[in-house]
Amino acid sequence: MAVSTKVELDLIRSSVRALCERFPETYWKETDEKHAYPEEFIKALTEEGWLSVLIPEEYGGAGLGMVEAGAILEEINRSGGNAGAGHAQMYTMGAVLRHGNEEQKQRFLPKIASGELRLQAFGITEPTAGSDTTSITTTAELRGDRYIVNGQKIWTSRAEYSDLMLLLARTTSKDKVAKKTDGLSLFILDMKDQKDNITIRPIDTMINHATTEVFLENVEIPVENLIGEEGKGFRYVLSGMNAERVLIASESIGDGMYFIDKSVNYANERIVFNRPIGQNQGVQFPISKAYMDIEAAKLMRDKAAEMFDAGENCGAEANMAKYLASEATWKAANAAMDTYGGYGFATEYNIERKFREARLFIVAPITNNLVVSFVGQHVLGLPRSF
Ligand SMILES: Cc1cc2nc3c(=O)[nH]c(=O)nc-3n(C[C@H](O)[C@H](O)[C@H](O)COP(=O)(O)OP(=O)(O)OC[C@H]3O[C@@H](n4cnc5c(N)ncnc54)[C@H](O)[C@@H]3O)c2cc1C
Repeated sequence: MAVSTKVELDLIRSSVRALCERFPETYWKETDEKHAYPEEFIKALTEEGWLSVLIPEEYGGAGLGMVEAGAILEEINRSGGNAGAGHAQMYTMGAVLRHGNEEQKQRFLPKIASGELRLQAFGITEPTAGSDTTSITTTAELRGDRYIVNGQKIWTSRAEYSDLMLLLARTTSKDKVAKKTDGLSLFILDMKDQKDNITIRPIDTMINHATTEVFLENVEIPVENLIGEEGKGFRYVLSGMNAERVLIASESIGDGMYFIDKSVNYANERIVFNRPIGQNQGVQFPISKAYMDIEAAKLMRDKAAEMFDAGENCGAEANMAKYLASEATWKAANAAMDTYGGYGFATEYNIERKFREARLFIVAPITNNLVVSFVGQHVLGLPRSF
């Protein structure tokens, strides 16, 4: 994997910023209002190769790492955009890359790199399992040369705009395994091929996230689409989750810097009582404090990204980066709402849209409570609480 110099990283950032300028806030406001998928934006990102940077060059990608991928997503969100529409196309393929066999890599990665295939649906969460992933009840039963899948997923984002889904299902029931993390398997599900057995229902949400409920009824997955070994899916998912958390932290940092940029501009320009509102410490301090928190979160994100790229276990750092970034950004979001006063509520200024979008990262892809609990138990050695 190539490691970018500072100059190269700056070039990546400025190139992404240039692309984002073609998609101004009016574009994002409109897609948000219509709950539309930002197809043109995703097409432009794909054509310029930004969504395939994590795919090695031999499979058609740029062969870059988490540091660069994080910078790309951060810039998208800092511009006022919403990278969530396409971020999963970047990292979901990591399961194939790290745990798939050579035939699977050859079959999927070049097409994902070119955008011919979209693998941006990730089916883990279920209505009755929630944060307790090992309690999922979707089953995959081997019959001959295929697995037959039955069950239900929820919050499966982008399912309507993806060809493939990375699916976690139980191949051995929980009461028959030594450890509850055993018996889960990971598959590439061809949703187009199985469309007659899949029902996708969009969920109306407070943000435009193209998220859905997915019902799977006698869905067939050929054995050659099982990733790695049967029953070991949970550990494959964990390595992917670290990548996801570093990238979500990056998007969150982008949101945070969006709020800081906007707040600083507005606080310098808005005159009340014959002076810029930013001259009041009551307005200035929350912006400065949020900025410091975001800068600190960036350091943790950078550490996690560098560890990931070096092949080190970055579970603690990736989780902490996601926590610190989302909390810092939530402070920035509130500082922006306060700075804008009544205008923060007017859709025209986009602050309320970004406010809604930024809130997500406290909850997904893992809630901050669960991160805190992970740190307590796995980093500090405190007793297991659940
Ligand atoms: C817009 C959106 C997009 C999403 N996209 C995807 C996707 O593409 N694929 C996918 O698989 N999932 C996706 N998710 C699901 C997301 O990962 C889950 O919502 C999240 O993991 C939390 O699960 P839950 O909603 O079931 O909450 P629950 O597990 O029901 O938790 C509810 C609350 O209780 C708290 N809680 C529960 N147990 C404990 C405990 N032991 N200690 C302390 N607090 C606890 C949680 O922190 C949370 O605050 C998405 C969610 C949203 C909102």
